[in-house]
Amino acid sequence: MNNFTFLEKNFEEWKTKYPLMEDIMNTRAVFWTNSLYGNKQGEKPRSITAEDMNDAEARLARFAPYIMKAFPETYSHNGIIESPLERIPAMQQKLSDLYGIQISGTLYTKLDSHLPISGSIKARGGVYEVLYLAETIAMKHIGFSWTDDYSVLINDNYRNLFAKYSIVVGSTGNLGLSIGIMGAALGFRVVVHMSMDAKHWKKNMLRSKGVTVIEHASDYSKAVEAGRKEAEKDSMSYFIDDENSRNLFLGYAVAAKRLQQQLSNLNIVVDEEHPLFVYLPCGVGGGPGGVTFGLKSIFKEHVHCFFAEPTHSPAMLLGLMTGMHEKISVQDFGIDNRTAADGLAVGRPSGLVGKTLERDIAGVFTVQDEQLYLLLRMLADSENKFLEPSALAGFDGPLQLLATQSGRRFLKERNLIDKMSNATQIIWATGGNMVPKAEMDEFYCQGVQAAVKL
Ligand SMILES: *Cc1c(COP(=O)(O)O)cnc(C)c1O
Repeated sequence: MNNFTFLEKNFEEWKTKYPLMEDIMNTRAVFWTNSLYGNKQGEKPRSITAEDMNDAEARLARFAPYIMKAFPETYSHNGIIESPLERIPAMQQKLSDLYGIQISGTLYTKLDSHLPISGSIKARGGVYEVLYLAETIAMKHIGFSWTDDYSVLINDNYRNLFAKYSIVVGSTGNLGLSIGIMGAALGFRVVVHMSMDAKHWKKNMLRSKGVTVIEHASDYSKAVEAGRKEAEKDSMSYFIDDENSRNLFLGYAVAAKRLQQQLSNLNIVVDEEHPLFVYLPCGVGGGPGGVTFGLKSIFKEHVHCFFAEPTHSPAMLLGLMTGMHEKISVQDFGIDNRTAADGLAVGRPSGLVGKTLERDIAGVFTVQDEQLYLLLRMLADSENKFLEPSALAGFDGPLQLLATQSGRRFLKERNLIDKMSNATQIIWATGGNMVPKAEMDEFYCQGVQAAVKL
């Protein structure tokens, strides 16, 4: 039975079971809250633990002396790849005015858009997995030890060793950029399979670094599939599997430990009386999933993580809501997976992420492309911060939480309404700093047009 027959059979039943299904299929914006959220009953032991996250953090620290040498822009942070957490009071006010809803608590943005090396959240997971691979190879073949000074990895004997290996990845753009830049810096041969959504400037930048870019006229899942097949043919080839990778996930998770420190530096408390809300743009799920995993390990029931997806690519939403995870795609539901949010243009969610976090993700909401452009312009005007469209998806979260029926019910059921004035709300800004100026101007103009239409 193919998926479509399966769905046709179940469709009427599902429409009854999931009241949001019709709106989702008609690509209307929805705010879904997860009925399994926080439910401990029947919970299974996890294959990924907080200890794994600490291990990933330690690995990144070992590599810091190398990163500092290879990427001088990280010098001021001693080779630690991290982004600022900043208050955005003018944006908070603008959002409140536009919708006539007071956003209570303090609004922050986590500027992964400004992460060194590749200017997006992929500079966490993507870079981490390449470093993991380099360490493994160096230890196996050249007697490298984890107590050595990692800055020697910049030397030719290591580069020549890494050049024997190739790294293959499928991407909508930013993951390819991150892995391509990091891989090429270490000396690996890198092959990036790009989906049709990928921007030209990203492909050009990679080619200028000697990375092989293969363009596909199909969507993300097909690009990943092509990469996987290619890597299988060659024993010296390593495939980075965005749909299932533990290492990517752990690289993202380290963000939570860094955020914990940043909150503590700002004297921000997270506890029963001071809840933390985090809004994360979601593509295949690894980035927002890793961050959620880390934050839940640290702040437990006091942090609530919501994922944001384009109305035309609600992959994680459908996977979680139906419990079918990677077995279904948005195309199965007649949704086209076409969105201006290229970083989120994913039709089939990660099963690893969905299953690992099915009780930890508070909810998923969807955002129209026009709204993304509108928010892009608002943030540029109010805070002088320029993000790519994907990175704006989270900015709708605080409003949707307060303005939708399901959002208010979520707060009420958890006795959070009175605590909102003490809340910290963090919107994860996932990318944008490397977008060429001409492209950014174009995005901004789209925001002006979107405002006219409203
Ligand atoms: C990749 C990406 C995301 C989402 O990460 P996933 O791991 O695909 O869920 C969000 N924003 C931007 C800008 C991205 O490039």
